[in-house]
Amino acid sequence: MPIDATQPYDDQNIFAKILRGEIPNRTVYEDEWALAFHDINPQAPDHVLVIPKGAYVCWDDFSAKASDAEIAGFTRAVGHVARELGLVEPGYRLLANTGFDAHQEVPHLHVHIFGGKPLGPMLV
Ligand code: ADP
Repeated sequence: MPIDATQPYDDQNIFAKILRGEIPNRTVYEDEWALAFHDINPQAPDHVLVIPKGAYVCWDDFSAKASDAEIAGFTRAVGHVARELGLVEPGYRLLANTGFDAHQEVPHLHVHIFGGKPLGPMLV
């Protein structure tokens, strides 16, 4: 069920549980600011989720409330993961669904990294 992006942060969401180590994940990268792990239901040969360590519902919440250090650290982590996965050439796609119309399901900000095949034009 898609979420309301204006809801308060729910610390029982599945990615909060992953961050606390209560649910296993296939980690590809972790640092002070971010955790990256394989999507459980991959939509491309490479499909990794990058989440901030802080408690943010969505991109709007993060961009409004996170510190400059968190924003820089998280953004660098996304780029680092894509580079480490070897996706810069031939290319990759980033996606951050926000709220109901975008069908965001997990109420903890996550950036999808898709790659490993020609992805075609963006569909909306
Ligand atoms: P949607 O499911 O519509 O793509 P989101 O943008 O909120 O909505 O994406 C949530 C993503 O989280 C989905 O791609 C889903 O497969 C993934 N996911 C859900 N639970 C887990 C989990 N335990 N481990 C890894 N990925 C997960």
